[in-house]
Amino acid sequence: MEWTAVFEGPLSKYVSGRSNGRIRVPWPVLESADQNLANLVLEDPLSGLTAAEDTLEELGYRDIALRVFDLPDGRTYRVGKYGSDHLGELLGIHGEVVSVDGVKPFAEVAAFECRHCATLNRMSQPGGKLVKPFECQNHECENTNAWSLNTDDSDIADFQRVVLKRTDSSMDDPPIETVYLWDDLCETVSTGDSVTIVGVYDTLPWPDEAVLKTYVDAISINKSEQPATVDEVADWKVKKWTFDAVDRLSTEGSSYDTTTRKVLDSVSDEYGVAEGEIQAALSALEDDSHVSEHRNGRVHITTSSTPTFEPTP
Ligand SMILES: [Zn+2]
Repeated sequence: MEWTAVFEGPLSKYVSGRSNGRIRVPWPVLESADQNLANLVLEDPLSGLTAAEDTLEELGYRDIALRVFDLPDGRTYRVGKYGSDHLGELLGIHGEVVSVDGVKPFAEVAAFECRHCATLNRMSQPGGKLVKPFECQNHECENTNAWSLNTDDSDIADFQRVVLKRTDSSMDDPPIETVYLWDDLCETVSTGDSVTIVGVYDTLPWPDEAVLKTYVDAISINKSEQPATVDEVADWKVKKWTFDAVDRLSTEGSSYDTTTRKVLDSVSDEYGVAEGEIQAALSALEDDSHVSEHRNGRVHITTSSTPTFEPTP
């Protein structure tokens, strides 16, 4: 299936429900509509989302952004828990907003008017310092340095920089990540908000030092309904998440077991749960004879049926 078929078929109600210049689609809905397109959006979001938005334009929906949220398990991380192998991919990043800059106009394409011959020279902008033309595009003109910026003919977007910090971190200096918000996403978060931001993880295009600075180009923001601090999350949920993680990870193990370390990382990455809470859940699961932990740091399941963790009403 191609984007046209997806927008006219399974996603048509999202298209007709568009507002504020955007269509918000949960990733699992896109996956059930077309798994290949859903995976393309994850692995190569710049191509995938551009193709989707070009298709919307062809269908008569101009300047509509496709906002994907609710990424699959394993694609949502706490701030800084992802590596350079994810550059260029779509990630969900959970953290607390610790800094919010003002909204600024950003020229995606800047139109420079030649002060000698009035030719418009349109220049795509990578960000940071404004890139000016090397010479006037009018071949009969020799101007290389006299320009005025014509904002009417430039493509100007609203732009806002925010900073996310890892929550549930015992580190003195928790990891942070810069996030760029565009257009309708601007002014939707405040300092102290706990959010999951879906965006493209990338390096800044104007590196000036050996260590590349990374950022996330946001395409959707969901504010957490779950409390940021795990002591407010029901114990049964942490137990269920932990049991499910052991079960899932054990299928990769040679003797249907896995390392305690992997379980801790998996549950903390996916749900933002502090490691101490997960360790406590493992002990409780062991007390209930659902799992068994070995001294060598491995854990395996010791029940043949999947236990129910939800409290009975
Ligand atoms: Zn000129």
